[in-house]
Amino acid sequence: MQLVRQKRNMGARRVRVIVAVLVVAALGAGCAAEGSGGARPASPSAGAQAGRGPGAAKEEAGASGTLAAHLEKVRRNQALRAAAARKWGLARTPLAAPPPPAVKPRITTRKGFEVKGGESLPPVFTTVPTKEKIVFLTIDDGAEKDPELLRMMTELQIPYSAFLSDYVIDDDYGYFAKMRDAGAALHNHTLNHRYLPGLSYAQQQREICGQQEKLQKRYGTRPRLFRPPYGNYNGDTLRVAKSCGVEAVPLWASEAFPDHMEWREWDRDLHPGDIILTHFRGKGDWKGTMPDMIRRVMQTVTEKGYAVAKLEDYV
Ligand SMILES: [Zn+2]
Repeated sequence: MQLVRQKRNMGARRVRVIVAVLVVAALGAGCAAEGSGGARPASPSAGAQAGRGPGAAKEEAGASGTLAAHLEKVRRNQALRAAAARKWGLARTPLAAPPPPAVKPRITTRKGFEVKGGESLPPVFTTVPTKEKIVFLTIDDGAEKDPELLRMMTELQIPYSAFLSDYVIDDDYGYFAKMRDAGAALHNHTLNHRYLPGLSYAQQQREICGQQEKLQKRYGTRPRLFRPPYGNYNGDTLRVAKSCGVEAVPLWASEAFPDHMEWREWDRDLHPGDIILTHFRGKGDWKGTMPDMIRRVMQTVTEKGYAVAKLEDYV
């Protein structure tokens, strides 16, 4: 009898431990999934608050209720994401990114990408240092303004960052305001998309800092990130960028098209923290629409077991 009761207790304890592990796992995925939609800042999880301070036992009942509600929200969220994946013709449901790190990783310039005397300048990199199976999606220029893209990314809860050139967005700034409102961060890709190493310091200043001003005036936030057109830059580029508020210069490890991927690395594969480049382009420029391109890149990302995380959570 004693033995049986002990066994049962042990069993119950084991179940509790398993439940706790599941709750923690689900919380992680859920918070990330919520945050990746972008619009709402992630709130501290109920689990982190439970059991702290006086009267913890009394709070437990309330906390487990909160947890249950949170879990239900996570479950609903994933179901919505799966439904969106079916609706938009994705072969698999995109994986939820892990919760963002409490402290952003220290990022340094990739070997071979340095400029002379550039130690104190914004780092130039193609991959964010992380062990998580995550990648980052970045979309450049801004010529194609497909409303389907905004709907698709919101419904699929896929985070992305836009690097905008004024000369292609100036016919419809409103499109990118909607993008910002949906949670995407808007960054600097110069005023006119010139080949920067061919320009003087003053000309680069106008191209880079001019776009900092424009984006801040239009969208209310001064970009922290800058990507030089074609990935070409020199020491002046980084000095100018730093002078007007740029903190980092993310390039890319691979590039996505509607019908294929192009790879920087010899192994032609994704790696934790890789930045993926693609463009705002339509059928006039390449063989497909923006949603076609997203379907293709997400197939690669999800099949390889990666989730898309929010670049600004890490950089
Ligand atoms: Zn570009």
